Amino acid sequence: MNKPMDLGIRKSVYQPTQEGRIFPQEFVSGSPAALREHRKRKLVAACRAFDAWDLDYGFAGHLTIRDPEHPELYWTNPVAIPFSQVKLSNLILVNHQGEVVEGDYAVNQAGFVLHAAVHAAHPDILAMCHAHTEYGVAFASLGKPLAPISQDACVFFEDHAVIREEAGQVAVEQGAGKNICDSFTGVKAAIHQNHGLLTVSRHSIDAAAFWFMALERCCKQELMVRATGVEPVLVPEDRARYSREHVGSEYIGWLHFQTVYEELVEDNPDMLD
Ligand SMILES: [Zn+2]
Repeated sequence: MNKPMDLGIRKSVYQPTQEGRIFPQEFVSGSPAALREHRKRKLVAACRAFDAWDLDYGFAGHLTIRDPEHPELYWTNPVAIPFSQVKLSNLILVNHQGEVVEGDYAVNQAGFVLHAAVHAAHPDILAMCHAHTEYGVAFASLGKPLAPISQDACVFFEDHAVIREEAGQVAVEQGAGKNICDSFTGVKAAIHQNHGLLTVSRHSIDAAAFWFMALERCCKQELMVRATGVEPVLVPEDRARYSREHVGSEYIGWLHFQTVYEELVEDNPDMLD
């Protein structure tokens, strides 16, 4: 019962079946240089989206995407530059030892510790996002997983972890990241107790960024509901899985982000400087 639909060659039920429709297409290229440029643009856009969603907290917050040619290196936003000022020209390329190998700016130490550990432990993970957000940080203090209170929350059903290791201790030493990276096996997100939210993607920075924004929103919604004192009605497990299969995939996260991207490019011409 409630088995996901067979979609044939389509990745999602949202892809049009009618030929010739204008619809976002995933970027495909055999050129590492073209892929790199594409990934960097999307990384900048993800940072600008985090600004638009008020996900800044001082210098805390880091987004990463692997380099297509040198997967042991990843592109990230520079430390102490607000998300609103991240642009192509100030991105940095960092190795797993935390050294900047391209770009002028410095790397966020805690960002390097966490992201390098996850990227090193999971060769399949392409992108990762972390920030100290208002609702995510508050929700993380509960030490509980997100409840399936809505279709939107179902995208994280059995697809996120609650990490209790190192809870509340700032991750600035290299060993700290290693203790949390096991939790990312087979899931797209994690709630780090007493710390905040993390998302990863095996597909794109687009998907990692959108699911991060979605997770923050879900945390906000669950906190609002719980603040009423009335117990929410939960989506039954089989329906929650069905919804997650249809609207919680990497592709769907990527597709959601395309609407954000188009708006950002139009409103923030400086982001591609
Ligand atoms: Zn943090």
